[in-house]
Amino acid sequence: MNKSLQNIVKPLLNWFDSHKRDLPWRRDNEPYHVWISEIMLQQTRIEAVMRYYERFMEALPDVKSLSEVDDDCLLKLWEGLGYYNRARNLKKAARAIISDYEGQFPGAFAELKKLPGIGEYTAGAIASICFDEKVPAVDGNVLRVIARVQASRENVLLPKTKKVFSEELRKIMPRHAGAFNEALMELGEHVCLPNGVPLCDVCPLRRYCIASRENLTAEIPMRAKKLKRGRKNLSVFILLTPDGRIAIEKRPDTGLLPGMYQLPNIEGFYTEEELFAILRDRELSPVSLSYTKEAKHVFTHVDWYMQGYTAEVNAPTERFLWVTQEELNTSYPLPTAFRKITEKSLC
Ligand code: SF4
Repeated sequence: MNKSLQNIVKPLLNWFDSHKRDLPWRRDNEPYHVWISEIMLQQTRIEAVMRYYERFMEALPDVKSLSEVDDDCLLKLWEGLGYYNRARNLKKAARAIISDYEGQFPGAFAELKKLPGIGEYTAGAIASICFDEKVPAVDGNVLRVIARVQASRENVLLPKTKKVFSEELRKIMPRHAGAFNEALMELGEHVCLPNGVPLCDVCPLRRYCIASRENLTAEIPMRAKKLKRGRKNLSVFILLTPDGRIAIEKRPDTGLLPGMYQLPNIEGFYTEEELFAILRDRELSPVSLSYTKEAKHVFTHVDWYMQGYTAEVNAPTERFLWVTQEELNTSYPLPTAFRKITEKSLC
């Protein structure tokens, strides 16, 4: 057993006892609450997740309501969080819990992992926090803390490193496994900060941390070079009818942002004359077109560079849905990428 790791258990639990934050999903350790919060937190910080979480719980308070929710309503609740497949998987998993587990959340790590959208990390978090099963839950924050405590130079972006760290943590899991996992995550988020600026002076693990002692926190954790990102240029239209309706259309069910709604758009950048001609060729009878704004949106492997245009059209073709602004805000999930174009352009 790794001695430096074994040493961290007690001080970490003591620290967590007095520093843990009061979060809505921590109040009862209900699996449904922990599950939804963990999925929301996968790419978003706690402060931002709070309002999404509360809105979600108000609309879908339990597994049953989630299993029965209409897809558009679900995606609307998820709007702004991105990674919409996660929302779809939540519903699939809820249906599986209803059909295969008689509506009761499975309580074991191995069973949890069989549910759609629940991987090692989320299964570990739910099993340990809600059922105190002695399994680790290793996210980016935990990887950073463990790499620094041991001064490990393994590349933390490799699955192999995650596997090795998980195995080491598994050997030292205490009885209060959930508190231990949450403590590691919280320490990584608030104390053992990334980019070489950890708050070692206030860290309960300082005595045992090799990276802190040897002044290596700027270079550990080691991260491999990032993948080359793609780039896509898009011309995006806010098409308005004389009575103020806006054109939207549904995206395909596969690929990026599946099944969400979008503003009409075409790949590439064009002059205003060219765009006017494109709208005319599509028989929309444009009467005016003007440049509105530009925006960038970053996805996992691609960046969208968007130039937005507002056009008044006289012939709203059936190819699009023509909705009021209120309907757009309340009933149709429009991804953040397109909201960046509508923001401030529509009053
Ligand atoms: S002592 Fe510093 S580097 Fe080590 S775990 Fe604590 S905050 Fe991170």
